[in-house]
Amino acid sequence: MVSLTFYGGVNEIGGNKVLLEDGGVRVFLDFGQPFGFGEDFFTSWLSPRSVNGLGDFFEFGLLPKLKGLYAEEQLRFTDVSYVKPRFDGVFLSHAHFDHVDHIRFLDPKIPVHLGVGTRLFLEAMEKTSGFCNYREHPYRLFRTGDKVKVGSLVVEPVHIDHSIPAAYGFLIHTSEGTVVYTGDVRAHGPRRDMTEEFIEKACACEPVAMICEGTRMVEKERRKNYSEDEVKRLSDGVISSTGKVVFVTRYSRDMDRFRTFYNVAKKNGRKIVVSPKTAHLLNRLVDDEHLDLPDPLKDEDVLVYYKRKKSGEFKEKDYYVWEREFMDKMVTHEFVHKNQGNLVMDLNFYQFE
Ligand SMILES: [Zn+2]
Repeated sequence: MVSLTFYGGVNEIGGNKVLLEDGGVRVFLDFGQPFGFGEDFFTSWLSPRSVNGLGDFFEFGLLPKLKGLYAEEQLRFTDVSYVKPRFDGVFLSHAHFDHVDHIRFLDPKIPVHLGVGTRLFLEAMEKTSGFCNYREHPYRLFRTGDKVKVGSLVVEPVHIDHSIPAAYGFLIHTSEGTVVYTGDVRAHGPRRDMTEEFIEKACACEPVAMICEGTRMVEKERRKNYSEDEVKRLSDGVISSTGKVVFVTRYSRDMDRFRTFYNVAKKNGRKIVVSPKTAHLLNRLVDDEHLDLPDPLKDEDVLVYYKRKKSGEFKEKDYYVWEREFMDKMVTHEFVHKNQGNLVMDLNFYQFE
Protein backbone atom coordinates (compact mmCIF):
# COMPACT_ATOMS: atom_id res chain seq x y z
CA MET A 1 0.00 0.00 0.00
CA VAL A 2 1.15 3.53 -0.77
CA SER A 3 0.85 6.06 2.01
CA LEU A 4 1.57 9.75 2.51
CA THR A 5 2.39 11.26 5.90
CA PHE A 6 2.75 14.99 6.34
CA TYR A 7 5.36 15.84 8.96
CA GLY A 8 5.33 19.49 7.92
CA GLY A 9 3.74 21.89 5.48
CA VAL A 10 0.19 21.53 6.85
CA ASN A 11 -1.49 24.62 8.36
CA GLU A 12 1.78 26.48 8.00
CA ILE A 13 3.79 28.14 5.27
CA GLY A 14 6.59 25.96 3.98
CA GLY A 15 8.31 23.37 6.13
CA ASN A 16 7.30 20.63 3.72
CA LYS A 17 8.30 17.20 4.95
CA VAL A 18 6.14 14.71 3.09
CA LEU A 19 6.87 11.04 3.63
CA LEU A 20 5.87 8.76 0.79
CA GLU A 21 5.97 5.03 1.52
CA ASP A 22 5.43 2.26 -0.97
CA GLY A 23 6.02 -1.26 0.28
CA GLY A 24 9.42 -1.09 1.91
CA VAL A 25 10.51 2.11 0.16
CA ARG A 26 10.39 5.38 2.08
CA VAL A 27 11.29 8.77 0.64
CA PHE A 28 10.75 12.31 1.81
CA LEU A 29 9.58 15.05 -0.53
CA ASP A 30 11.41 18.15 0.70
CA PHE A 31 12.70 18.63 4.21
CA GLY A 32 12.44 22.32 4.97
CA GLN A 33 11.95 24.69 7.83
CA PRO A 34 8.58 26.45 8.00
CA PHE A 35 8.25 30.21 8.32
CA GLY A 36 7.80 31.14 11.96
CA PHE A 37 9.51 27.92 13.04
CA GLY A 38 9.58 27.57 16.85
CA GLU A 39 8.26 31.08 17.43
CA ASP A 40 6.11 29.92 20.35
CA PHE A 41 9.30 29.12 22.25
CA PHE A 42 12.16 31.04 20.74
CA THR A 43 12.83 34.53 19.50
CA SER A 44 15.80 36.26 17.92
CA TRP A 45 18.97 35.19 19.80
CA LEU A 46 16.98 32.98 22.18
CA SER A 47 17.26 29.92 20.01
CA PRO A 48 17.65 26.15 20.26
CA ARG A 49 21.08 25.23 21.64
CA SER A 50 23.11 23.85 18.79
CA VAL A 51 25.30 21.93 21.25
CA ASN A 52 22.15 20.05 22.24
CA GLY A 53 21.59 18.71 18.71
CA LEU A 54 17.94 17.84 18.24
CA GLY A 55 17.27 17.87 22.00
CA ASP A 56 15.51 21.24 22.13
CA PHE A 57 13.62 20.55 18.90
CA PHE A 58 12.21 17.28 20.23
CA GLU A 59 11.41 18.83 23.62
CA PHE A 60 9.01 21.30 22.00
CA GLY A 61 7.67 18.91 19.37
CA LEU A 62 9.22 20.91 16.54
CA LEU A 63 10.56 17.90 14.65
CA PRO A 64 9.20 14.36 14.44
CA LYS A 65 10.90 11.73 16.53
CA LEU A 66 11.59 9.21 13.77
CA LYS A 67 14.09 6.44 14.12
CA GLY A 68 16.62 5.93 11.39
CA LEU A 69 16.33 9.46 10.04
CA TYR A 70 18.74 11.72 11.88
CA ALA A 71 22.50 11.97 12.22
CA GLU A 72 24.02 10.20 15.19
CA GLU A 73 25.61 13.37 16.60
CA GLN A 74 22.22 15.12 16.55
CA LEU A 75 20.69 12.46 18.79
CA ARG A 76 23.41 12.40 21.42
CA PHE A 77 21.46 14.28 24.09
CA THR A 78 17.99 12.99 23.21
CA ASP A 79 15.96 9.93 24.19
CA VAL A 80 15.96 8.69 20.58
CA SER A 81 18.62 6.05 20.08
CA TYR A 82 20.60 6.01 16.85
CA VAL A 83 19.86 3.25 14.38
CA LYS A 84 20.98 2.83 10.78
CA PRO A 85 18.97 4.73 8.13
CA ARG A 86 15.39 3.55 7.61
CA PHE A 87 14.72 6.05 4.84
CA ASP A 88 15.87 5.71 1.25
CA GLY A 89 16.23 9.32 0.22
CA VAL A 90 15.04 12.90 0.22
CA PHE A 91 13.97 14.72 -2.94
CA LEU A 92 14.39 18.49 -2.86
CA SER A 93 12.14 20.46 -5.19
CA HIS A 94 14.11 23.74 -5.03
CA ALA A 95 16.61 25.65 -2.92
CA HIS A 96 14.24 27.76 -0.81
CA PHE A 97 14.93 27.57 2.92
CA ASP A 98 11.43 26.30 3.71
CA HIS A 99 12.03 23.28 1.48
CA VAL A 100 15.63 22.37 2.26
CA ASP A 101 16.89 23.70 5.57
CA HIS A 102 16.32 20.72 7.85
CA ILE A 103 18.43 18.36 5.78
CA ARG A 104 21.17 19.59 8.13
CA PHE A 105 19.80 17.19 10.76
CA LEU A 106 19.66 14.11 8.54
CA ASP A 107 21.78 11.02 8.73
CA PRO A 108 24.65 11.73 6.31
CA LYS A 109 24.14 8.28 4.82
CA ILE A 110 20.69 9.16 3.43
CA PRO A 111 20.95 10.29 -0.22
CA VAL A 112 19.67 13.74 -1.11
CA HIS A 113 18.34 14.05 -4.67
CA LEU A 114 18.32 17.55 -6.11
CA GLY A 115 18.58 19.50 -9.33
CA VAL A 116 21.98 20.51 -10.69
CA GLY A 117 21.11 24.19 -10.18
CA THR A 118 19.76 23.60 -6.68
CA ARG A 119 23.11 22.19 -5.66
CA LEU A 120 24.83 25.36 -6.95
CA PHE A 121 22.52 27.47 -4.80
CA LEU A 122 23.13 25.39 -1.68
CA GLU A 123 26.90 25.55 -2.19
CA ALA A 124 26.79 29.32 -2.63
CA MET A 125 24.66 29.69 0.51
CA GLU A 126 27.05 27.57 2.54
CA LYS A 127 30.03 29.54 1.33
CA THR A 128 28.68 33.05 1.77
CA SER A 129 26.52 32.82 4.88
CA GLY A 130 27.85 32.22 8.35
CA PHE A 131 24.95 30.07 9.51
CA CYS A 132 24.25 27.73 6.58
CA ASN A 133 25.70 24.28 6.90
CA TYR A 134 23.81 21.48 5.19
CA ARG A 135 26.57 18.98 5.98
CA GLU A 136 27.78 16.06 3.93
CA HIS A 137 25.27 13.85 2.15
CA PRO A 138 25.47 11.65 -0.90
CA TYR A 139 24.12 14.34 -3.26
CA ARG A 140 22.50 12.83 -6.37
CA LEU A 141 21.97 15.35 -9.12
CA PHE A 142 19.09 15.27 -11.59
CA ARG A 143 17.78 17.26 -14.54
CA THR A 144 14.43 17.34 -16.28
CA GLY A 145 14.00 14.17 -18.31
CA ASP A 146 15.77 11.96 -15.78
CA LYS A 147 13.98 9.05 -14.17
CA VAL A 148 15.37 8.42 -10.72
CA LYS A 149 14.91 4.90 -9.37
CA VAL A 150 14.70 4.34 -5.64
CA GLY A 151 13.82 0.70 -5.00
CA SER A 152 10.52 0.09 -6.78
CA LEU A 153 9.74 3.82 -7.06
CA VAL A 154 10.50 5.90 -10.13
CA VAL A 155 10.67 9.63 -9.53
CA GLU A 156 10.49 11.92 -12.53
CA PRO A 157 11.59 15.51 -11.90
CA VAL A 158 10.06 18.06 -14.27
CA HIS A 159 11.09 21.73 -14.34
CA ILE A 160 8.56 24.34 -13.23
CA ASP A 161 8.66 28.13 -13.01
CA HIS A 162 9.16 29.61 -9.54
CA SER A 163 10.89 32.64 -8.00
CA ILE A 164 14.18 30.73 -7.91
CA PRO A 165 15.75 28.90 -10.84
CA ALA A 166 16.16 25.12 -10.88
CA ALA A 167 12.74 24.44 -9.33
CA TYR A 168 11.03 21.11 -9.99
CA GLY A 169 7.80 19.26 -9.50
CA PHE A 170 7.87 15.48 -9.19
CA LEU A 171 5.89 12.71 -10.81
CA ILE A 172 6.31 9.75 -8.49
CA HIS A 173 5.38 6.48 -10.12
CA THR A 174 4.30 4.10 -7.35
CA SER A 175 2.84 0.60 -7.28
CA GLU A 176 -0.65 2.17 -7.07
CA GLY A 177 -0.27 4.87 -9.69
CA THR A 178 1.37 8.24 -10.03
CA VAL A 179 1.53 10.75 -7.19
CA VAL A 180 2.12 14.34 -8.30
CA TYR A 181 4.07 16.75 -6.11
CA THR A 182 3.95 20.25 -7.55
CA GLY A 183 6.60 21.91 -5.40
CA ASP A 184 6.19 25.70 -5.38
CA VAL A 185 4.84 26.72 -8.72
CA ARG A 186 3.73 29.89 -10.50
CA ALA A 187 2.05 30.66 -13.79
CA HIS A 188 2.76 34.41 -14.01
CA GLY A 189 6.54 34.16 -14.32
CA PRO A 190 8.71 34.40 -17.42
CA ARG A 191 8.95 30.60 -17.75
CA ARG A 192 5.26 29.83 -17.67
CA ASP A 193 5.97 27.33 -20.45
CA MET A 194 7.84 25.10 -17.99
CA THR A 195 4.93 25.10 -15.57
CA GLU A 196 2.58 24.24 -18.44
CA GLU A 197 4.82 21.40 -19.54
CA PHE A 198 4.75 20.02 -16.00
CA ILE A 199 0.95 20.23 -15.90
CA GLU A 200 0.67 18.43 -19.24
CA LYS A 201 3.00 15.65 -18.11
CA ALA A 202 1.20 15.34 -14.79
CA CYS A 203 -2.19 15.07 -16.56
CA ALA A 204 -0.92 12.44 -18.94
CA CYS A 205 -0.04 10.22 -15.95
CA GLU A 206 -3.66 10.28 -14.70
CA PRO A 207 -2.40 10.66 -11.16
CA VAL A 208 -4.05 9.04 -8.14
CA ALA A 209 -3.11 11.96 -5.89
CA MET A 210 -1.68 15.45 -6.09
CA ILE A 211 0.15 17.32 -3.35
CA CYS A 212 0.14 21.08 -3.82
CA GLU A 213 0.99 23.91 -1.50
CA GLY A 214 -1.71 26.57 -1.36
CA THR A 215 -0.42 29.37 0.83
CA ARG A 216 -1.59 32.08 -1.55
CA MET A 217 -5.08 30.76 -2.25
CA VAL A 218 -7.86 33.31 -1.83
CA GLU A 219 -11.38 33.55 -3.22
CA LYS A 220 -10.81 37.11 -4.39
CA GLU A 221 -7.31 38.16 -5.29
CA ARG A 222 -6.73 41.69 -4.01
CA ARG A 223 -2.96 41.82 -4.39
CA LYS A 224 -1.43 43.01 -7.60
CA ASN A 225 0.24 40.08 -9.25
CA TYR A 226 2.69 41.59 -11.70
CA SER A 227 4.28 39.53 -14.40
CA GLU A 228 8.02 39.93 -14.84
CA ASP A 229 7.36 41.97 -18.00
CA GLU A 230 5.22 44.41 -16.03
CA VAL A 231 7.92 44.76 -13.38
CA LYS A 232 10.34 45.51 -16.20
CA ARG A 233 8.09 48.16 -17.72
CA LEU A 234 7.35 49.82 -14.36
CA SER A 235 10.97 49.88 -13.19
CA ASP A 236 12.05 51.24 -16.55
CA GLY A 237 9.54 54.04 -15.95
CA VAL A 238 11.15 54.84 -12.60
CA ILE A 239 14.75 54.71 -13.80
CA SER A 240 14.23 56.61 -17.04
CA SER A 241 12.46 59.45 -15.23
CA THR A 242 15.31 60.34 -12.88
CA GLY A 243 18.93 61.39 -13.08
CA LYS A 244 19.50 60.36 -9.47
CA VAL A 245 20.78 57.15 -7.92
CA VAL A 246 18.29 54.27 -7.99
CA PHE A 247 18.05 51.52 -5.40
CA VAL A 248 16.38 48.21 -6.18
CA THR A 249 15.71 45.29 -3.90
CA ARG A 250 14.48 41.78 -4.41
CA TYR A 251 14.49 38.37 -2.80
CA SER A 252 18.19 37.49 -2.94
CA ARG A 253 17.91 34.36 -5.06
CA ASP A 254 15.23 35.54 -7.45
CA MET A 255 17.43 35.56 -10.53
CA ASP A 256 14.57 36.43 -12.88
CA ARG A 257 14.14 39.65 -10.96
CA PHE A 258 17.89 40.27 -11.04
CA ARG A 259 17.89 39.79 -14.82
CA THR A 260 15.03 42.29 -15.10
CA PHE A 261 16.88 44.96 -13.08
CA TYR A 262 20.13 44.25 -14.94
CA ASN A 263 18.45 44.70 -18.32
CA VAL A 264 16.58 47.84 -17.28
CA ALA A 265 19.80 49.37 -15.90
CA LYS A 266 21.59 48.57 -19.14
CA LYS A 267 18.80 49.99 -21.28
CA ASN A 268 19.12 53.26 -19.37
CA GLY A 269 22.89 53.39 -19.75
CA ARG A 270 23.54 52.53 -16.12
CA LYS A 271 25.69 49.90 -14.47
CA ILE A 272 24.25 47.62 -11.81
CA VAL A 273 26.10 47.43 -8.48
CA VAL A 274 25.81 44.18 -6.54
CA SER A 275 27.13 42.87 -3.21
CA PRO A 276 30.03 40.38 -3.14
CA LYS A 277 27.46 37.76 -2.09
CA THR A 278 25.40 38.32 -5.24
CA ALA A 279 28.60 38.41 -7.30
CA HIS A 280 29.59 35.02 -5.90
CA LEU A 281 26.18 33.53 -6.67
CA LEU A 282 26.19 34.92 -10.22
CA ASN A 283 29.67 33.61 -10.78
CA ARG A 284 28.56 30.12 -9.71
CA LEU A 285 25.35 30.21 -11.76
CA VAL A 286 27.28 30.95 -14.94
CA ASP A 287 27.87 27.17 -14.96
CA ASP A 288 24.17 26.73 -15.73
CA GLU A 289 23.89 27.72 -19.37
CA HIS A 290 20.08 27.83 -19.22
CA LEU A 291 20.00 30.82 -16.93
CA ASP A 292 21.59 33.44 -19.16
CA LEU A 293 23.00 35.55 -16.33
CA PRO A 294 26.00 37.92 -16.48
CA ASP A 295 29.37 36.88 -15.07
CA PRO A 296 30.42 39.65 -12.67
CA LEU A 297 34.08 38.97 -13.45
CA LYS A 298 33.62 39.60 -17.17
CA ASP A 299 30.57 41.76 -17.63
CA GLU A 300 31.38 45.48 -17.79
CA ASP A 301 27.89 46.46 -16.67
CA VAL A 302 28.24 44.76 -13.29
CA LEU A 303 30.20 46.37 -10.45
CA VAL A 304 30.69 45.04 -6.94
CA TYR A 305 30.14 47.20 -3.87
CA TYR A 306 32.53 46.74 -0.95
CA LYS A 307 31.50 48.05 2.43
CA ARG A 308 34.08 49.87 4.49
CA LYS A 309 35.52 47.54 7.10
CA LYS A 310 37.67 48.04 10.19
CA SER A 311 40.88 49.25 8.50
CA GLY A 312 38.91 51.80 6.52
CA GLU A 313 41.26 51.20 3.60
CA PHE A 314 39.45 48.51 1.61
CA LYS A 315 42.35 46.10 1.98
CA GLU A 316 42.16 42.53 0.84
CA LYS A 317 42.56 41.17 4.34
CA ASP A 318 39.43 43.04 5.46
CA TYR A 319 37.29 40.63 3.48
CA TYR A 320 36.51 36.94 3.46
CA VAL A 321 38.47 34.90 0.95
CA TRP A 322 35.38 34.32 -1.23
CA GLU A 323 34.71 38.08 -1.29
CA ARG A 324 38.21 38.95 -2.51
CA GLU A 325 37.63 37.33 -5.88
CA PHE A 326 35.75 40.36 -7.17
CA MET A 327 38.02 43.16 -5.95
CA ASP A 328 38.96 44.06 -9.53
CA LYS A 329 35.36 45.14 -9.95
CA MET A 330 35.30 46.95 -6.61
CA VAL A 331 33.48 50.20 -6.07
CA THR A 332 33.21 51.98 -2.74
CA HIS A 333 30.93 54.64 -1.25
CA GLU A 334 33.06 57.38 -2.85
CA PHE A 335 32.53 56.02 -6.34
CA VAL A 336 28.82 55.63 -5.74
CA HIS A 337 28.63 59.19 -4.40
CA LYS A 338 30.29 60.61 -7.52
CA ASN A 339 28.41 58.50 -10.06
CA GLN A 340 24.91 58.44 -8.65
CA GLY A 341 23.09 58.99 -11.91
CA ASN A 342 24.98 56.20 -13.67
CA LEU A 343 24.20 53.40 -11.23
CA VAL A 344 21.47 51.05 -10.10
CA MET A 345 22.23 49.73 -6.62
CA ASP A 346 21.02 46.14 -6.17
CA LEU A 347 20.83 45.74 -2.41
CA ASN A 348 18.96 43.44 -0.11
CA PHE A 349 17.04 44.52 2.94
CA TYR A 350 20.00 44.09 5.27
CA GLN A 351 22.22 46.34 3.19
CA PHE A 352 20.04 49.43 3.25
CA GLU A 353 21.96 51.12 6.06
ZN1 LIG B 1 9.69 28.26 -2.86
